[in-house]
Amino acid sequence: MPKKYKERSLIEFQKEFPDNEACAKHLVEQRWPNGFVCPRCGHNEAWYLSTRQLFDCKMCRFQTSVTAGTIFHGTHTPLVNWYWVLYHMAMDKVGVSVAEMQRLLDIKQYRTAWLMAHKIRKAMADRDARYSLAGLVEMDDSFFGPKGTKRGRGSERKSTVLCAVSLYRDRQGEEHPGFAHMQVVDNASGDSIEGFLERLGCGSTTKEGHDLLKAIRTDGWRSYGRATKRRDMSHYKVVLRDPKAAGKLLPWVHRVISNAKAVIRGSHRGVSEKHLQAYLSEICYRFNRRFWERELFDRLIKACISAQTITHGDLVRGQQSIHRY
Ligand SMILES: [Zn+2]
Repeated sequence: MPKKYKERSLIEFQKEFPDNEACAKHLVEQRWPNGFVCPRCGHNEAWYLSTRQLFDCKMCRFQTSVTAGTIFHGTHTPLVNWYWVLYHMAMDKVGVSVAEMQRLLDIKQYRTAWLMAHKIRKAMADRDARYSLAGLVEMDDSFFGPKGTKRGRGSERKSTVLCAVSLYRDRQGEEHPGFAHMQVVDNASGDSIEGFLERLGCGSTTKEGHDLLKAIRTDGWRSYGRATKRRDMSHYKVVLRDPKAAGKLLPWVHRVISNAKAVIRGSHRGVSEKHLQAYLSEICYRFNRRFWERELFDRLIKACISAQTITHGDLVRGQQSIHRY
């Protein structure tokens, strides 16, 4: 039984994926682990046209592209370049800047590298959108935006971001962070928070019929109270006598928020409001897989295979689906 995921050094990666053909072969194995099956007639014998990366069904002659239905489809970028970008995005702990990636991989157009990175971020967001948070969840809101702009709830110049981290207890009763989600919202109102709770899995139940998301812990801002009341959830408030102590009382959510701010300031030198959600989704995707760092490349390929792709037009228009879960 081969190992499901494997770790590769840069040298190993280079050896395993030297050209388009090797990448296409790998992609085929990932998409059809039990062998190719024609999507039209279900027949399992086909000719493979390697130059065009196409399967030609022996029964009905239907042609299936290796990349159809993946984020790689319809792009002019060779598969091997995609693989390199994915490798870099998977290996870099904080996320590579597009300019850096363009330079490293010798991609001629900045726009090409930018669009590739966004397609991958979209795949990450789609993957995480399948997961709910369970148990007790630490939650807070924060403001993302350029330095010097107005702060505070109700501020119009910074983006409001809701952040949630699920917690679990070990045998000693100590709390540890599980999964994190962040969402850009219009404001920190009860309605926004209720929408976020729904996104996190509020209302979903386990097989046994128990509520998945049971309680939240916050700084006691009244909108959280309103939302949990409507949703019939428990709400634990930590009392903040000194606002600077928030990091101690809600440690995990604050760690995730400050990490996100550092990443956005550092590797991306700030992010426009329109694309903020995509970057936050990438940061959460990494955080949620922090114990599987070595498997990130394989996991990322899987995410790219099953993702709906986005076009440059969608991104420029700021399609809603990439901003919200
Ligand atoms: Zn067929």
